[in-house]
Amino acid sequence: MKLLKLLVIGGGAREHALAWKLLRSPGNVKVFVAPGNAGTSLEDGLENLPITAIPELVDFAKKESIAFTIVGPEAPLADGIVDAFRAAGQKILGPTRQAARLETSKDFAKSFMQRHGIPTAAYATFTSASEAHDYLNEKGAPIVIKADGLAGGKGVVVASTLDEAHAAVDKMMTEEQLGGAGARVVIEEFLEGEEVSFIVMADGRHVLPLATSQDHKRLKDGDQGPITGGMGAYSPAPAVTPALHAKIMREVIHAAMNGMDQEGEPYTGFLYAGLMIMPNGAIKVLEFNCRMGDPETEAIMFRLKSNFVTLVEHTVNGTLDKVEAEWDRRAALSVVMAAHGYPGSPRKGDVIHGLPNPTPTETSETPEADFYVFHAGTALGSEHGKEIVTAGGRVLCVTVLGDSVKIAQRRAYEIAEQIRFDGCQMRHDIGHWAINHHRR
Ligand code: AMP
Repeated sequence: MKLLKLLVIGGGAREHALAWKLLRSPGNVKVFVAPGNAGTSLEDGLENLPITAIPELVDFAKKESIAFTIVGPEAPLADGIVDAFRAAGQKILGPTRQAARLETSKDFAKSFMQRHGIPTAAYATFTSASEAHDYLNEKGAPIVIKADGLAGGKGVVVASTLDEAHAAVDKMMTEEQLGGAGARVVIEEFLEGEEVSFIVMADGRHVLPLATSQDHKRLKDGDQGPITGGMGAYSPAPAVTPALHAKIMREVIHAAMNGMDQEGEPYTGFLYAGLMIMPNGAIKVLEFNCRMGDPETEAIMFRLKSNFVTLVEHTVNGTLDKVEAEWDRRAALSVVMAAHGYPGSPRKGDVIHGLPNPTPTETSETPEADFYVFHAGTALGSEHGKEIVTAGGRVLCVTVLGDSVKIAQRRAYEIAEQIRFDGCQMRHDIGHWAINHHRR
């Protein structure tokens, strides 16, 4: 059987999960992960590629006859990786650099939503720190300050006091702590409600909604502490009833797709809407991301029963209307284990003990395990060859299927508690909204 070669760009648990799922598609599949991590380097059928420069990735795809490439993180999209691959006749899943402005400029995203009647929080944009300070004094707290550009998850401050709000403006605009990303800021009305992640695949004309999910942005239990890239997720999100699903598709997803089309940038790739569901049932878009969420991807891929290669092929070929996605009825839940110092300055080099066996050896021939430990910031230690050490902020993502979120939660923590590394940080309440939802 002909070998199908695929390429995944990125090195986090999201990319490990995407590669893991592609590998489990029927047929003879090999997945390159650039640059990957220790987990992707150890798995049969996956191969790490130590390349990040876009021209070299294009050359590799051409030379190896890669059938398609999937882009995990936002940075290469902002750098125009999709434009470069397409110019070279290579198939790639992601938005163009221009379309990716939905994520790479908060100001663009907000004005786009206004132009197309997509519900979002009231806001104003500033390039002058003194005007931003005046606006804060006029509006009062709580209030939300967002750096316009990409800031690796550090660009949003939800300020509960005016002092915090002014300090955020100083950090971003005066002290330039986020570099150019904070030269322009969006100041936005504070919204209170339940957050959900709604992700679709888009081929420019058609969309395929993926399973719903919920992330946990704060570092500590009870949704306390700083905002992180995400400390855990589960799918499905019980807050998204069928009626709400239809409303989100109409008011947000189709409105955004039509808007991008009207502006001459038909949207292709994953489109992620971070939504606040207000107590009165109204929806507000907090943000668009032009890629899948991490750790939502890990939970979503765990529930996907359809052939993922086929879904991606239809997306890159513009025929998404011809396919549907089938989901495991069970819940999936992911718990992130993060390094000491995350989300500030994570420590590297702590040895990871107790990783369960299925990680490197499970293959498509064996029955699917009900859990998997996806790797994020991990590397092979140099000392004894076989050690795996921490090498980034988020280190591992334990993902589990269970008959309910509560069952999946219990099992995920049983597994996570066997894994140890110095300074490990993890939340102990991932899934609490879903569990409380059922109780309501
Ligand atoms: P964003 O990157 O814009 O989604 O912001 C990161 C996180 O900040 C979100 O997931 C929310 O938890 C929080 N956030 C963003 N905007 C608001 C808002 N207007 N009101 C309350 N919380 C917000």
